[in-house]
Amino acid sequence: MFDSTKCSFADLGLSDECVARLEEIGYEHPSPIQEKFLPPALKGLDCLGQSQTGTGKTASFMLPILEKQEKSEQFPQALVLCPTRELSEQVAQETIHIASGDRPEIVVVVGGRPLRTQAQKIERGVDIVIGTPGRVIDLYKRNILSFDHLKTVVLDEADRMLDIGFRPDMEYILKRCPKQRQTLLLSATIPDDIERIAQLFMKDPVRIDLSGQNVTASSVDQYYCTVDEHKKFPFLIKLLSVEKPRQVIVFCRTKRKADQLYNKFRTRLDNVAALHGDLPQAKRDRVMKKFRDGKVRLLIATDIVGRGIDVGGISHIINYDIPEHSDDYVHRIGRAGRLSSEFLGKAFTFVTKEQGDELTRIEMLVNRMIPQYRLDD
Ligand code: AMP
Repeated sequence: MFDSTKCSFADLGLSDECVARLEEIGYEHPSPIQEKFLPPALKGLDCLGQSQTGTGKTASFMLPILEKQEKSEQFPQALVLCPTRELSEQVAQETIHIASGDRPEIVVVVGGRPLRTQAQKIERGVDIVIGTPGRVIDLYKRNILSFDHLKTVVLDEADRMLDIGFRPDMEYILKRCPKQRQTLLLSATIPDDIERIAQLFMKDPVRIDLSGQNVTASSVDQYYCTVDEHKKFPFLIKLLSVEKPRQVIVFCRTKRKADQLYNKFRTRLDNVAALHGDLPQAKRDRVMKKFRDGKVRLLIATDIVGRGIDVGGISHIINYDIPEHSDDYVHRIGRAGRLSSEFLGKAFTFVTKEQGDELTRIEMLVNRMIPQYRLDD
């Protein structure tokens, strides 16, 4: 299932030690984004890559950081900004996974977790800071986190950071980072806002655009289903009984809707959970762990928290509500049939009769016609 290239990591300019580590963890060939992104990024150039979670993008920006890392008293050397807590955690996990030799000291700085612990870790000295813009600024304003020695700044899922209102925070941070730094930006889509950030804060970025090849994960079979709003729940029940998903995420537009749906399921199933931004962090962590461990098989999520969930076993994505922004479609369905899984994922989008235009916008974005799926009565 892994969408790899024929080239080898050794051809991309990585050190022998790093290539050996990648071999050790079973990364045989670079993915398309890694093949294109790594050479300019390793040379220290600013890079703007269009790619989504699940395509190996974390290694694309993290390997150059790890290769550049120096033993020094001046901390931290790299800052990775992510839109959500979950994504920050995931980037940290992948970093630990791919790091060879002397592991870098990493701290994840996100809201909803004790600031003190994060501050103490930074004060002891960390190489890489990964986190959401709000908490990063908080720590900076308290003079705990310094940007003075940063060599690399990464904006991961930059389009989503803009969507959820992080634009002022991103600009605040970028303005205060050293001029002599490398900026790497990754985004599933490149709207005008991203261009603006690139022009203001990046130096002649090398553009790596894989959208022509495939915006959406090629390993996902996509369908839409025409369903009236009030028939969605029975339709979903029937779809689940026909499809028998191994693990499924059902996406709703709002937290309220996610809760309502969860309450309908709760009495019928015990391996179901909801994940949205109103839940306390500890609860979100517990739900994610259960989902990762396969104890939760049906997860009802909203876009913001659903994005970036990297769990190998997800067989199905159901868009109970068609996403409000077409870009979210790409992110949602990217959760299924990920690099690490061996099976083909399926994505179903529920569309009401009035939402034809929204479906068309998605089809234009993913550059393919999405076939209709019917359930026999
Ligand atoms: P990402 O897009 O960074 O979220 O990566 C998605 C998944 O693919 C993670 O589980 C990685 O460990 C895995 N992965 C990344 N690069 C490779 C590679 N070159 N070969 C095999 N697996 C990879």
